[in-house]
Amino acid sequence: MLFNKNGKNAALTVVCLGIVSLLSLGCNKGDESTTVTPTDEVVVEVDPGLFIQAGLAEPITKITKTLSDGTSAVCYKIVTNNTPTEHSVGPWCPTNITDNASKGGIWFEGGKVYDVDGAFVKNLATFYNDAVWKLYNADGSIKVTNTKAACEAAARPNVDAAYNNYCVECQPSYVSGLKKTFYIPVKPVKLSKSASIQGMGTVVGIAFNGVNFDPPAPTSAILGAHTLAPMDDAGGHVNTATGYHYHAATGLTKKVAQSDGHAAMIGYAMDGYGLYERLDASGNEPTDLDANRGHYDKTRGYHYHVASAGSNSFISSFRGAQGSFSVSF
Ligand SMILES: [Zn+2]
Ligand SMILES: [Zn+2]
Repeated sequence: MLFNKNGKNAALTVVCLGIVSLLSLGCNKGDESTTVTPTDEVVVEVDPGLFIQAGLAEPITKITKTLSDGTSAVCYKIVTNNTPTEHSVGPWCPTNITDNASKGGIWFEGGKVYDVDGAFVKNLATFYNDAVWKLYNADGSIKVTNTKAACEAAARPNVDAAYNNYCVECQPSYVSGLKKTFYIPVKPVKLSKSASIQGMGTVVGIAFNGVNFDPPAPTSAILGAHTLAPMDDAGGHVNTATGYHYHAATGLTKKVAQSDGHAAMIGYAMDGYGLYERLDASGNEPTDLDANRGHYDKTRGYHYHVASAGSNSFISSFRGAQGSFSVSF
């Protein structure tokens, strides 16, 4: 049971790649403390005008919803068609060990980003120091899941033995018509204690194109089955439960530049605080980030700076009470 080495991996596997029908992914975990209203800081409201219109399935509206801490707040209801328009989607798996990097996506290991080209696939046994790895055939062709049934069989917690040693990818066409609904508090509400981003159904936030930033991909579980589930160059891949989603911010989604040289904005976390790139215009990472990966300034209020792409994560925890997320077809 390589996917069940620990509970976290098992749960994340379901979120990330699972075929379980997690079609209503509420965020009401009920394990968070009461909220406090900060009085000594600027609180910046979510700006619905920043979202790319082509990514929206319907106009953004306001509605009162229950947040993760049980309180109610006015939220923006953002329904998206989950289709980026500012960058291409895929490729993920190269098809031959001679393919160059343009034919494949990326993989994370040890905090670094690697191009999944043919040479990377060919070298996996050495890379992971494990002779069981062999994702390619004698003729150099790479074993890739190339049907919806295959991607589901390879992505479930108990990987079908037929798909051990496969490069796993699902196509967006397998989930055509998928819509995502995000409820995000218009005005962030600080929790008395930061909340974990781990857990069933949690998403981290939303890019301006309407695609979700997800919790870390369960890479150890994926690797345990000698499978690779690459992200594309934008940091995203597809599962049949939630469609296309990001595990890394690689700089290809819409950014909102800041006039003061601060890092560009790339979206919102589910608690309504802004998500910004890791590095500012001079290439420096803020030195005063808290344990959530956030900090405060008077222009942006409290906000997060996402982690490096190779970290397989965006932020470490939520400062505020989160809205909710669901998927429909
Ligand atoms: Zn994933
Ligand atoms: Zn900042």
